[in-house]
Amino acid sequence: MFDKNGNDNSTYNQYIIAEVAKVSPTVADLIEKEYNRQKNNVELIASENYCSEAVMAAGGSCLVWKYAEGYPYQRTSGNKGRYYGGTEFVDQLEEYCCDKWREVFKTDYHVNVQPHSGSQANFAAYKAILEPGDTILGLNLDNGGHLTHGSAVNFSGKLYDVHFYDVDDNGFIDMEDLKAKAKELQPKLILTGASAYSRTIDFAAFAEVAKEVGAYFMVDMAHIAGLVAAGEHPTPFGYADIITTTTHKTLRGPRGGMIFAKPELAKKVDSAVFPYAQGGPLEHVIAAKAVCAEEALKPEFKEYQAQVRKNCKAFADEFVKMGYNVVTGGTDNHVFLLDLSDREFTGKDLQNACDAVGITLNKNCVPNEKRSPMQTSGVRIGTAPMTTRGFKEEDFIEVAHRIDAVCKELDAQKAAEAK
Ligand SMILES: *Cc1c(COP(=O)(O)O)cnc(C)c1O
Repeated sequence: MFDKNGNDNSTYNQYIIAEVAKVSPTVADLIEKEYNRQKNNVELIASENYCSEAVMAAGGSCLVWKYAEGYPYQRTSGNKGRYYGGTEFVDQLEEYCCDKWREVFKTDYHVNVQPHSGSQANFAAYKAILEPGDTILGLNLDNGGHLTHGSAVNFSGKLYDVHFYDVDDNGFIDMEDLKAKAKELQPKLILTGASAYSRTIDFAAFAEVAKEVGAYFMVDMAHIAGLVAAGEHPTPFGYADIITTTTHKTLRGPRGGMIFAKPELAKKVDSAVFPYAQGGPLEHVIAAKAVCAEEALKPEFKEYQAQVRKNCKAFADEFVKMGYNVVTGGTDNHVFLLDLSDREFTGKDLQNACDAVGITLNKNCVPNEKRSPMQTSGVRIGTAPMTTRGFKEEDFIEVAHRIDAVCKELDAQKAAEAK
């Protein structure tokens, strides 16, 4: 793992690069370049993190050689078991993984650990409870939602009749708008969860609205799952019928997805993942997910998630102090958005200028976005990766001033161009 100055206390990546170089110097060279980029940059992408070498090793183990379509026998009543022989140990592994994740989230929900990604998890979750054409009420991309929450260019926007509740003028989810639209549209599904929303989501209030209109309630906790696991964000368990997540964001595991569901939806969820959406599960990734769950059960993980939030608050507050427009005025979680609508430069300009000085962040739409999604008026900033590397509040405050200097330079450039 890298420390905050970019020193690596492990030889794991060197080993990988040397092994790959024996076959492909080109691939090894590109891995090494990316390794150095990651080591030397300040990583602020809110959806990224650095997982442990134990997680990576499990994901690169002999399990990559195994086919295991289907599910372990004992897990849910009604599924048909595996379609391959030799699954004795991967069966135990997958069950262990499921048990550990139930322990992490203190839940008796059914869990399916096979989805290859968050998007695959959402694809299957919708299939488990909806028919094509059914109405979904969700949060749109501009306001912090995800592509798979009904964007017109995504399967979700094409297969379902999607409507959106809004955020208010300050950028907070507008619960009154949600209630009004739920009553009017009578959706089959009310969906919440976000990729760029910096405030606590009131799952209890959502569940109440869903109950009132007889809708399923689904939470996509891809971004905040690590905070939920550590008790740093209220839990959706007990409120949502179905919960999806990624495992590689705040959870700090391998790239992948998971679905949790109330027991009565177990069979539908399982058959929506396999055979509907996917073929063979990635048992190596499932092993890595199990390692991730064990890490998430440790006290250090709770401390880490608490620090992620403290860091984020200090970081966002520093921008507010410097006169920046932070969407909602701050943050409750691991992410915040700078709104640059009143500046001459775009989110893309700032992303590129930060890249040039070794700070990695991404352009992002802001509420009431006026620029195109390729330009945008905002940037999204997250503290999960650098907190893994040991950053504390004062380190992020220093980075805030470095970003401010970049913004001032862009202002000067735009002023010079305008002459
Ligand atoms: C990242 C994300 C996803 C999708 O995850 P992938 O693994 O990239 O497919 C889904 N929903 C939300 C809210 C996300 O932030």
